[in-house]
Amino acid sequence: MSNIETVVIVGAGQAGASAILELRGNKYEGKIILIGDETHLPYERPPLSKDVILKPSDTKIEILSQEKLTELGVETIRGNGVQKIDATAKTVELQNGDVVAYDKLLLATGGAARRLPNFDALGKHVYTLRNLEDSQALVPVLQKGQRIILIGGGVIGLELASSARYKECDVTVIEMGPMVMGRSSPRVLSEFLLAQQQLAGVDVRLSTSIADCKLDGEEVVVTLANGEELRADAVVYGIGIVPNAQLAVEAGLDVDFAIKVNENCQTSNADIYAAGDVATQLRADGEFRRVETWENANLQAGIFARHIMNVEHPVANPAWFWTDQLNINYQFVGDMAASEWQVRGEINPELREQSSFVLFGVTDGVIVGGITVNAAKEMRHLKKLISKNAPFEADKYLDLSQDLRKLVK
Ligand SMILES: Cc1cc2nc3c(=O)[nH]c(=O)nc-3n(C[C@H](O)[C@H](O)[C@H](O)COP(=O)(O)OP(=O)(O)OC[C@H]3O[C@@H](n4cnc5c(N)ncnc54)[C@H](O)[C@@H]3O)c2cc1C
Repeated sequence: MSNIETVVIVGAGQAGASAILELRGNKYEGKIILIGDETHLPYERPPLSKDVILKPSDTKIEILSQEKLTELGVETIRGNGVQKIDATAKTVELQNGDVVAYDKLLLATGGAARRLPNFDALGKHVYTLRNLEDSQALVPVLQKGQRIILIGGGVIGLELASSARYKECDVTVIEMGPMVMGRSSPRVLSEFLLAQQQLAGVDVRLSTSIADCKLDGEEVVVTLANGEELRADAVVYGIGIVPNAQLAVEAGLDVDFAIKVNENCQTSNADIYAAGDVATQLRADGEFRRVETWENANLQAGIFARHIMNVEHPVANPAWFWTDQLNINYQFVGDMAASEWQVRGEINPELREQSSFVLFGVTDGVIVGGITVNAAKEMRHLKKLISKNAPFEADKYLDLSQDLRKLVK
């Protein structure tokens, strides 16, 4: 039994929804109040760049229905976000002035699209993607023959490029860095991702910066640093997020761009926790790191719930995420900065969606990272190998006649 009467969760997104399930799953019987600034019930964001655009009417993204929330005994407040935390009184104040008291508070406020003010100033034909309305707004924009410029060759940019090509748009991706998905993928995979986009007809400009943008009638004109002018019907930019940490800053919590939390997801105030995209967590190596993935939001929600219920955390798995582009499923686990990458199978970009291979990330002879490309069933074996600090043995792991499942004991 816990003596905590009320848990308030701010942010009805992935981490917020997951925290509810984890609290009830860990036998928390007190009151849970979920406060969201969106009018929706919690929903999944990964489909926003994919199925919500491609198959809007058959895509279900809700994480918890109203019936489920009622069954779990959760009080929900929607469309009325928190504007202030009073950490001394242990209350939060909502946009409409209502005040809600908590014993434990979870900040699961996610992030907002990082803005490009010169593009925003154009006032029309410019889009970003973070929430359901953003995604729905893109449906009529991404239509056959439309010229779309995507700024940012990260996960969101490439997923949108893929969706836009399915819709037969004419797509250009502008990336400042020398690689696509340069923050989250090793070079060998980045080259494959780039080749897939190019084979699908996307014009990818790497190491390219933008000097200017303006409207010319209904066209957006983007001038590159080399003076070249690109014209488009719409521009979508995805250049990262800014954590929604303002509430924490104003409440005097320790914030360094994101809300700093310890291994238990506790902030510098012992009754306030943070989880998901808004949190930067102390890791075993003594560094703080923020992870923007679906899995991390769920994981940290679980850490929070178990900590307030005095339940020990299970040993953490290596970090995992995925992306789906041009009918190819990519999954990533562990350290993407491994010093070398070894290929099991064939990397042949021309095979396109028929491609299927596995990459082993190796540092000092040990498997520290892994990537599957249309080979999702091998992912759990990679996770095990990384968890065990398994030494890399090329003759075993690169031999396709050997079953990975049998090699991982
Ligand atoms: C388009 C897109 C595609 C993605 N694809 C993938 C993918 O393929 N794989 C993957 O691993 N990850 C993917 N992600 C990332 C993943 O969805 C996020 O990491 C995850 O949603 C983070 O969960 P969160 O709860 O921290 O934040 P969110 O899910 O963003 O939820 C935060 C909620 O808090 C609300 N909020 C903010 N401030 C307040 C306030 N003051 N009061 C009340 N409510 C507030 C926000 O409006 C939002 O509803 C994708 C994200 C996007 C946007």
